[in-house]
Amino acid sequence: MAGVDDLMMHYPLTIRHFFERTRRLFPKKTLATRVPGVGLVRSTYADFAERTARLAGALETLGIGKGDRVGTFAWNSHRHLEAYFAPPLMGAVLHTVNIRLSAQDIAYIVNHAADRVLIVDASCWPTLEPIRKQLETVEHVIVMKDTPGAQIPPGALDYEELLAGAQPMEAWPTLEETDAAGMCYTSGTTGHPKGAVYTHRAIFLHSLASSMTDVLGIGERDVILHIVPMFHANAWCVPFAGVMNGATQIFGGPNPQPRDIIEIVHNERVTVVGAVPTVWIAIDAILEQEPQWDISSIRCIPIGGSAAPRTLIEKFDKKYGASMLHAWGMTEMTPLGTVCRLKSYLDAGPDDQRYAYRAKQGYPVAGVDLRIVDDEGREQPWDGQSMGEIQVRGPWVIRSYYDTPESGDRFTDDGWFKTGDVAAIDPEGYVIITDRTKDLIKSGGEWISSIDVETMIMGHPKVLEAAVIAVPHPRWVERPLACVVPKPGVTLEPVEILDYLRPKLAKWALPDEVVLIEAVPKTSVGKFDKKVLRERFKGWTPAN
Ligand code: AMP
Repeated sequence: MAGVDDLMMHYPLTIRHFFERTRRLFPKKTLATRVPGVGLVRSTYADFAERTARLAGALETLGIGKGDRVGTFAWNSHRHLEAYFAPPLMGAVLHTVNIRLSAQDIAYIVNHAADRVLIVDASCWPTLEPIRKQLETVEHVIVMKDTPGAQIPPGALDYEELLAGAQPMEAWPTLEETDAAGMCYTSGTTGHPKGAVYTHRAIFLHSLASSMTDVLGIGERDVILHIVPMFHANAWCVPFAGVMNGATQIFGGPNPQPRDIIEIVHNERVTVVGAVPTVWIAIDAILEQEPQWDISSIRCIPIGGSAAPRTLIEKFDKKYGASMLHAWGMTEMTPLGTVCRLKSYLDAGPDDQRYAYRAKQGYPVAGVDLRIVDDEGREQPWDGQSMGEIQVRGPWVIRSYYDTPESGDRFTDDGWFKTGDVAAIDPEGYVIITDRTKDLIKSGGEWISSIDVETMIMGHPKVLEAAVIAVPHPRWVERPLACVVPKPGVTLEPVEILDYLRPKLAKWALPDEVVLIEAVPKTSVGKFDKKVLRERFKGWTPAN
């Protein structure tokens, strides 16, 4: 009998398909980058395709070949998009380095990944210059002039001159879908940063997934503004999905501020713009003062990286007409895991229930398997109460870190990745992230979710930001301390916060004390840096 299996073509899922498809179908569509003092500088996908082929030609002349790592150290720009594509198209590996890490971590990451070339924004060079000598594997530094008047440092190559003099690469090598396309290191809070390596297949499938209606729904008609840094988890992989769909893409350029985001959204009728919650909190503060701005063109604000407060989601919906989509993911997952789309019958429910759901992190995206597991390795029920560590598996989840044998304990024997996030899952399948394992507060045998308490505090009308940390306690082991930043110009007394929380929280979960601080310290990717706060309040003596 003739075999029936495996009669479809073996067509490797590589990003070459996206590139060639868009070169053919969408050459007229727009790309743009914000240049400080100049405004938006526009180009097209035809320019992108030509320039990317030239960059690949130039890299080949510099000796870059299959498997070689090409690092980027840059803000979001159309040039960074060229660097997203040229190395993987030619079989090399794009390595996005986080420009906000410490010099020590940057040197470690570049050396560990063995980058041979670094493509650097001129405005980021001052960070690299002092450690250039420590970057043992880097043979060439290529500098992009990202601001007017930028200079090329001695010994570096000029990106534009290099492209102008290069032969465009005509034929791309045939690749396997399992070949590495990109890599990114976690902004790890303990130990050395660890590298996640993305295969072509992972990026291909993730881009298809993010284009699904029930995920981000990215399509040709979208006008995407890139604010999530391209050095952080592939900017949530949206630049790839944008190219795949031929969407208009606008890049935020060097160090974009909340006001820049508002202006671009208003002027360009942006439809999709993602950022971490802290950015939206700052945008809200401006919109409150300056009602002339219209951001209602936005159909989707993917928001994640840390928990988005319910009040923020509701306010952006009702006051600004801009819909937030709460999502959860991580560098190790390319990065999407869950998005919070309301099921049709939940969307029909009362407002209170709808927004309670919208503040959850959502249900797993098609392609991702997800479970919660207790300390003994027992899977927990989806009852909205039982908590456990989230474990995931899927075609865009790492099965190993790059060359970090000591991290083997992050993977289970039955093939799941241990995320380190603690969550409950409700009976509808919506995930509620409780904390990172290390941020949970253990008080007298009860667990207190710091995220829970801080999103509640951020619902207070006088509060700009709040972070809740554990401080040691002689009797209860740990107790919550709330660090609160009042909105500018308002007078806030700590007791107002405690009175506000009292009816909403179990007695033992109420912070012992509220301290007012000037700002919540942020990590390199804009999340609350609780490590710094814990350090600051390490000698804190509890009030009772
Ligand atoms: P990163 O790899 O830097 O993107 O960080 C991933 C981590 O950010 C996750 O493991 C979570 O701890 C946290 N995170 C991401 N999205 C959310 C969210 N929507 N709510 C709470 N925490 C989140």
